[in-house]
Amino acid sequence: MTMISKPELALRGAVPGPKQKISVAVLGATGAVGQSFIRLLANHPWFTLVAVAASERSAGRPYAEATRWLGTEPMPDQIASMTIAPCDPLKVDAELVFSALDSSVATQVEAAFASAGRFVLSNAKNYRMDPDVPLVIAEVNPDHLCILEAQQRRRKWKGGIITNGNCVAIVATVPLAPIHQRFGIKQVFVSTMQAVSGAGYPGVPSLDILGNVIPYIGDEESKIESELQKFLGTAIGDAIQPASFIVSAHANRVAVEHGHTVCMSIALGKKTSADEVAACIEEWRGAPSARGLPSAPDRPVVLAKNPDRPQPRLDVNAGGGMTVTVGRVRPDPLFDVKLVAMGHNILRGAAGASVLNAELLITSGLVGSA
Ligand code: NAP
Repeated sequence: MTMISKPELALRGAVPGPKQKISVAVLGATGAVGQSFIRLLANHPWFTLVAVAASERSAGRPYAEATRWLGTEPMPDQIASMTIAPCDPLKVDAELVFSALDSSVATQVEAAFASAGRFVLSNAKNYRMDPDVPLVIAEVNPDHLCILEAQQRRRKWKGGIITNGNCVAIVATVPLAPIHQRFGIKQVFVSTMQAVSGAGYPGVPSLDILGNVIPYIGDEESKIESELQKFLGTAIGDAIQPASFIVSAHANRVAVEHGHTVCMSIALGKKTSADEVAACIEEWRGAPSARGLPSAPDRPVVLAKNPDRPQPRLDVNAGGGMTVTVGRVRPDPLFDVKLVAMGHNILRGAAGASVLNAELLITSGLVGSA
């Protein structure tokens, strides 16, 4: 009989799940990110989607009628006939709640669910930078979940809020994580080319973006300039101590459907060659606790060898949309090294990352009994 080692088993997505499936709901289920949740949860091995919720405009209507379905594959049958609930914890009975809510409502709604004993996996910006709220990429900083206990104590919540980063901040952080772990980062200069789907649906008017580049995305640069340091920070006591490096960001909207591209120049703490940095990225497999989870790609980051990659059209679906592709790792005459990273803004940068964080919550023993 062939013995299968534990790491191999994990890479086949064979990490044991909960004894019983966990009931989950999606808030903001009609939007671009919400629909991505629907696709990911329709046949999830650990979760059963029991409720979909959105604004009062959509509540009370069948999901198929209220939703302008995006993407090419059909809407899952079992979801199409669900009646959309209002975003009220008394009307949505699920243990875990995925939030794809507009930021204008996320503060009150997510707190109401957390207070009612639900664990909320949020994509909104509202709570990301609160010191007692974990901002987590499963492969990068799973240990930051430890501050949930302090959050519950401080806010007197029975549940809690766990946040995803901004979509482009996640794409940038995944390749920076192994570099920071091995060499330390002192400064990062970031320039982004962000897809139109990052603005939700219907998003940027076609007449504004076709054949054009818009050098402004509201609030985006400040998110990039603060979230990277929190992701790569350290859990100390009841809060996260952000990493101390400085980030300068330019955010641009481009006429790409899905996939945010990030050009980065990086100053390192410990000087090394571009080849060593490339090798460090190529070897990295992410935190062991994330490996083998149902939504974890085999590799969180891959190195493209061709000099004209990554490209959104060719690389956005790497690892089922969960792998960030990095290319053009080379010396930087201003700093030490520069590279290009690209990842799926809705999967790696939003819904897929949240589902992976939820799986981590289960195996961490914080929800359900794995
Ligand atoms: P979207 O397409 O505009 O969808 C927004 C969702 O919020 C819809 O389901 C909408 O429901 C719901 N909503 C709006 N107002 C509401 C209210 N007053 N009460 C309850 N629900 C309300 O936006 P999106 O792109 O999916 O983004 C969702 C969240 O994820 C945002 O916070 C965004 O910043 C964040 N995010 C997006 C991306 C991305 O790449 N798109 C990446 C990372 C994070 P109705 O249909 O009923 O109006």
